[in-house]
Amino acid sequence: MQVKAPRGTYDILPPDSSKWHYLEKILRETAALFGYREIRTPVFEHTELFERGVGESTDIVNKEMYTFIDKSERSLTLRPEGTASCARALVEHSLYNGLLPVKWYYIGPMFRYDRPETGRFRQFHQFGVEAFGSNSPYIDAEVIILLVEILNKLGLKNYELHLNSVGCSVCRKEYREKLISYITPVKDRLCPDCRSRYQKNPLRVLDCKNEACHQAIAGYPTIYDSLCDECREHYASVRKALDDNGVSYKHDDNLVRGLDYYTNTAFEVHIPGIGAQSAVGGGGRYNGLVKECGGPDVPGIGFALGMERLLLALDNFDDLNKRMTDVFVAVMEGQYEDIGVKILTDLRRAGIRADKDYTGKSPKAQMKYADKLGAKLVILLGEDEVKNRFLTVRNMKTKEQVKVGHDEIIDFIKRELEVS
Ligand SMILES: [Zn+2]
Ligand SMILES: [Zn+2]
Repeated sequence: MQVKAPRGTYDILPPDSSKWHYLEKILRETAALFGYREIRTPVFEHTELFERGVGESTDIVNKEMYTFIDKSERSLTLRPEGTASCARALVEHSLYNGLLPVKWYYIGPMFRYDRPETGRFRQFHQFGVEAFGSNSPYIDAEVIILLVEILNKLGLKNYELHLNSVGCSVCRKEYREKLISYITPVKDRLCPDCRSRYQKNPLRVLDCKNEACHQAIAGYPTIYDSLCDECREHYASVRKALDDNGVSYKHDDNLVRGLDYYTNTAFEVHIPGIGAQSAVGGGGRYNGLVKECGGPDVPGIGFALGMERLLLALDNFDDLNKRMTDVFVAVMEGQYEDIGVKILTDLRRAGIRADKDYTGKSPKAQMKYADKLGAKLVILLGEDEVKNRFLTVRNMKTKEQVKVGHDEIIDFIKRELEVS
């Protein structure tokens, strides 16, 4: 029986893996530019971490986690997101006592048992940043500017940035009451999910995907109108910083985060035209999270981007990765293969991308193969070359051939590659 990859997972094959390298390079470089360094956490954690850090009332924790009992009867879960692990690591290593803010990025696979569709997988990849230890609205702005900078570098100009403030524990509490009283008279028009959760979590009705729920609560009081002075000021500072730095955004009253540890700034990025799931990422401030994970009261802010969705939005890769090698060593007669291998090794040790055939192709087939690999130069090695101690170098574009001595070959190839 043939065994296939599990549903919702997939192989990243060459040349697609080059797209990933390209994306990862931009993500890492941009994060470094802003002073964020990489953290790598385990792929699985104690289930309890996500119950606390992601929230027991969320779909992620209720329906989507890959949870298993290991051989020592511990409940472990494949990480469904990256932030809880970062908060755990911050607490576990007491880094809140050190130099603040702690600025991290992470990149890697996440796991959710979700219905697979375009841009949605059960093993998917996220890039995220977290900044712990600052409550300044300017670090909120920094994180958002970083996100926008990534999109700009990827050439994704048509993104939409949605922005809102979800207030603090004080003003949001008042708001929740207001919202519950507004929803209660129309609760029968809500979808079953919303009906069962609006008492406990009324904000989730605002971001319900169900159109009927939005109609039922039309004209609802906005959280913006309920913000306390401090939260209002924080939000105004974030917006001004974004304005000052040329970042355009849209205030969005529907953008809320239902969980208690989310505070103040919330944002989401959409790229229209990549399918039903147009959100490529989002984030916000989560001043209550570190405490929820057993640490002290340390503020934090961050975002996560779905890498599969970013790749869906990118279509400018075509010319990027066709060239798999620069130089091809064509051995015209089998008995000289050992000499060919030595030349190949010399080229590679000199930092030149080089390759050869290993399947006994005819000279003609080797030239075709060299062309397929995108080689700019081919070194020909036949009887004449070996007997008279030289190499023939063929320029694949101009079809010109020149004789080069063994001693000069590396320098010659380097020069040729520079001008080609
Ligand atoms: Zn407030
Ligand atoms: Zn609903």
